[in-house]
Amino acid sequence: MFGLARTSSVGTAVTPTTHRDLRGRALGCCEVCGARAGFVSAHYRVDEAEGGRATLGNLLYLCDSGASSCRAQILQDSLWARGFGFTVGGTFEPCDVPVLRWSRWTRASQWVLLNNRGGITPTNRRPR
Ligand SMILES: [Zn+2]
Repeated sequence: MFGLARTSSVGTAVTPTTHRDLRGRALGCCEVCGARAGFVSAHYRVDEAEGGRATLGNLLYLCDSGASSCRAQILQDSLWARGFGFTVGGTFEPCDVPVLRWSRWTRASQWVLLNNRGGITPTNRRPR
């Protein structure tokens, strides 16, 4: 499966159930740019190496095909990614950090909080 096999001894692997729920939340589209990418990854907002877990609040469904993909850009520029909540420092609870997420419903990006049950709540807050 696409980019889901993780071998870190620190974090936790994305289970098939969580991946299904993540894909369902994303409606099959990249949660940053909206691309209906064939090749996608479950991106950890708090990195596994910093204790990030494979929970819906900590995961984003991202296009992951080539150097211009959202996942590649996020991994290349963590400062930029933190400004949009795509990446979160290990001292934060990702469910409490807003993320600028693309919505297939509105066909636009909006600031939201993610919870671990797949919920999406609009927010006026921004990442600190
Ligand atoms: Zn994308």
